[in-house]
Amino acid sequence: MLNVHQQTILRLLIASHGMSRTAIAEKMKLSKAAISTLIKEMLHAGLLEESIPESNGQGRPSVLLKMRADSAYFLGASLTGEDVHLVLIDMHGRVLASTKMALNLDPAALAHTIAVAIPPLLAQKQLSPDQLIGLGVTLSGFVDENQAVCVQSALLGWRDVPLAALLHEQTGLEISLENDAKALAVSEKIFGVAKKARNFTLITHGDGIGSAHFFQGQLHRGAHGGAGEIAHCTIEPGGRPCRCGKRGCLDTLASLTALRESMRDKALPCRDVAELEALAMKGNSAAIAILHQAGHALGLSIANIIQMNDPEMIVIAHQPNAFDGLLKTVVMQAIDSHVLPAIIGKTPISSIVIHQESWARAAASVAAYRFIVQLPD
Ligand SMILES: [Zn+2]
Repeated sequence: MLNVHQQTILRLLIASHGMSRTAIAEKMKLSKAAISTLIKEMLHAGLLEESIPESNGQGRPSVLLKMRADSAYFLGASLTGEDVHLVLIDMHGRVLASTKMALNLDPAALAHTIAVAIPPLLAQKQLSPDQLIGLGVTLSGFVDENQAVCVQSALLGWRDVPLAALLHEQTGLEISLENDAKALAVSEKIFGVAKKARNFTLITHGDGIGSAHFFQGQLHRGAHGGAGEIAHCTIEPGGRPCRCGKRGCLDTLASLTALRESMRDKALPCRDVAELEALAMKGNSAAIAILHQAGHALGLSIANIIQMNDPEMIVIAHQPNAFDGLLKTVVMQAIDSHVLPAIIGKTPISSIVIHQESWARAAASVAAYRFIVQLPD
């Protein structure tokens, strides 16, 4: 078991692209000799590797320490689509193997289906079960603070389902459940664009809208696991009815579902956002109005997040070809017009494309995050 200093070293290395012993010692305010002893044990345990960077011509470069890709393996399952995607990742977040199966809404049957799919996935990479650290599961909905129970998922039709216990019974693995947007934020924090950010917000733009926040390097789950639920913030009081029972929520204005509804209401000849954008490009006023309304609502919500939390960056995770053109332009304009003038342009906005497999990788990242950041004492 790693001690608290070694856990800190892992966290530092995850947030960097490699660090020298000297840099780690300075950061942790420990002597270089003490750091060397701690690292020796971690090298021996196969957790770290050393690499010598290219010389820049100014003396001998320091040896950098990095996490070994093969130091740990994690599984991730996504329950966010019609199929369950199951992936195997290494410590660098690379997807090594994947499979998919039909989503069975009966929790016990689902746990059995996932358990049966694991051995063939490991066999593809000649891995043994004891090399696996854990299984993360991502779903649309609320998860309890122990990441063990799906408290509520409208998409799955579940309420208080102890999925972690069912999966643990079938697989013997440590199981971590997580809401889909939070899982994606974790994935970007430990493997992606937000690696170096201690404070950031990730927005997921899909059939529904989600968000998740990292504060001081930690995922903010809130008192009841519901932090970041911007989908149901009221943007237009008395507006369209929302599936949550309220009216005028952000979801009813800016989600892909809302955009498709608006296209149908206006009888526009398009099936998706890419076609709506193409129609707007040709000057169709209804298409332009729909994209404006959605972009304005989403931009306003992001501006409020920036105003309240002052994050280092915002990451917008969107479907392929569904956040380009006018929608993106209006979102960016709405952000700038609704934050205080003094902070306009100071929060970088980056965007990433999500595919169905991204959710499963995000789920696996949750298991990795638990291993790295929430290591037990
Ligand atoms: Zn709502």
